[in-house]
Amino acid sequence: MPELPEAETIVRDLRRRVPGHCVTGLKVTHADVLGPGLNPRRLARELKGLCFRDVGRRGKNVVLHFDRDRVLAVNLGMTGRLVVSESPRAAELRHVAVRLDLDDGHALLYDDTRRFGRLELHTTATWAERSAELGLEPLAPEFTAAALHKLAGASRTRIRNWLLDQRRVAGVGNIYANEALFRAGVHPARPANCMSAREAAKLRDALVAVLTEAIAARGTTLSDYRDAAGEAGGFEPRLQIYGREGEPCPVCGQTIQRVVLTNRSAFFCPRCQR
Ligand SMILES: [Zn+2]
Repeated sequence: MPELPEAETIVRDLRRRVPGHCVTGLKVTHADVLGPGLNPRRLARELKGLCFRDVGRRGKNVVLHFDRDRVLAVNLGMTGRLVVSESPRAAELRHVAVRLDLDDGHALLYDDTRRFGRLELHTTATWAERSAELGLEPLAPEFTAAALHKLAGASRTRIRNWLLDQRRVAGVGNIYANEALFRAGVHPARPANCMSAREAAKLRDALVAVLTEAIAARGTTLSDYRDAAGEAGGFEPRLQIYGREGEPCPVCGQTIQRVVLTNRSAFFCPRCQR
């Protein structure tokens, strides 16, 4: 499912494409992707005629800013995609839920096979409130080793699960949590408050490094993720631990193991991660 690097890749693509363009029409095919209080008629009434001002990201959310103080926050869920219609790959989309027609004759398509994604309409003020519920941005200057150590120190939750809690650190999902814990040498089942300051510093650096590298590779595609042109990301071959159960650890050669923590797989090297 899309995490921070995948959302960021889409944001960077769309930022070069949509600002300055206006919404001439809107079609909702599957209204179950619309968030609370939103229906197709209201979405069309609110957005038609508005122009894109900017595209941003908060955690795993792609945030579309329009004029007249309107914000459309897109949580991609498990299989959500935002693809521009002029891309040759757009013809491959089979589950377009929402279509925003643009004034240049093209469109921005929200496609979602499983429809766990959500589109929320906000004003700048209500989006700021919603955004305040999310945790630290791992690529922001505030995400220091000391900040991570302090936050984690307040919780006995297993560190892999803790990293997935969007109210603590925003944008990290299971793939990059596993990769960062491996790089930092921290076992995924350890309680968050048992990390030393030195381990927290290694984990902070590992998170920043793996997220940055994944953005440079345009994200990880296991099956569904696509960028705004409908293309797969390139980071999957560089995953060191996620999904590698039974393979040798790239550092020490020990067999990589898998354990289920709260219904989700965690992968680790029993020698490298303590
Ligand atoms: Zn190892």
